[in-house]
Amino acid sequence: MPELPEVEITARRLDEALRGSVIASALAPGLNALKTFDPPLHAIDGRAIEAIRRRGKHLVVDVDGELSLLIHLMSAGRLQLFDKRAGMRDRTSRLLVRIEGSERELRLREFGTRQAAWVKLLRRPELEDDEALATLGPEAWPDPPALGELLADQGARPLHGVLRDQRVIAGIGRSWVDEILWTARLSPFKRADDLSGDEAAALRTAVFERLDGAIAHYEEVVTLPIPDKLPLPLLVHRHAGEPCPRCGATIEAVHYESYVMCYCPTDQTAGKVLKDRRLSRLLK
Ligand SMILES: [Zn+2]
Repeated sequence: MPELPEVEITARRLDEALRGSVIASALAPGLNALKTFDPPLHAIDGRAIEAIRRRGKHLVVDVDGELSLLIHLMSAGRLQLFDKRAGMRDRTSRLLVRIEGSERELRLREFGTRQAAWVKLLRRPELEDDEALATLGPEAWPDPPALGELLADQGARPLHGVLRDQRVIAGIGRSWVDEILWTARLSPFKRADDLSGDEAAALRTAVFERLDGAIAHYEEVVTLPIPDKLPLPLLVHRHAGEPCPRCGATIEAVHYESYVMCYCPTDQTAGKVLKDRRLSRLLK
């Protein structure tokens, strides 16, 4: 589930490897992932890659001629560089960008049965006006916004949802929200408009420290080809049932339809164990 740190390291590694390379040809197998038709995808054939960068949880491939590919990996997509071209029967392929003068191929792949990852080819001046970017809140890293006022506007919404709302703050998802709230010692269900000045400041510090720490970790351990599964330095998320690394209490979890929220009851909820919706649904 790529979030800001995972997309950032992906952009950095691909930028280092591909900046200045010329695109031989691009194709979108099955046409399912490509959401635009003007300009056509072949408009980038023969053009140089100027930069690969991140916006929120999106990747942007800037191409010579004022064009940009905007890519969202969603939950199961990966953008990877391979030394060999994909076989035509590789069902994970969503976008293939072949690099001139080699067999190298920048490939958007997606695992699982759902096809959710998407690509748009946009004219650069229109890039930031695209709905996906125009609706993004301020970037969570490297300079997170002051959170007091920003969150006060969100009323009674719980922090766990608000911090993952890309329109409020861009880049945080289901993994890093658990880590950030644990670091700031805040309940996932605390109301967004119910933070003291100190709590809002601690939360902003936690946003920066955890995302920055993850990126620093990836700088140490991630090399090309970018692995399918990145080694996320998580302390709480995916650690339900294990001792809290700070206080030793058992990490608890709340199970939702498609994800799990983890927290330390001692540090975050004044000892209260939150209702597990999966259990309560089974008991109905
Ligand atoms: Zn704890």
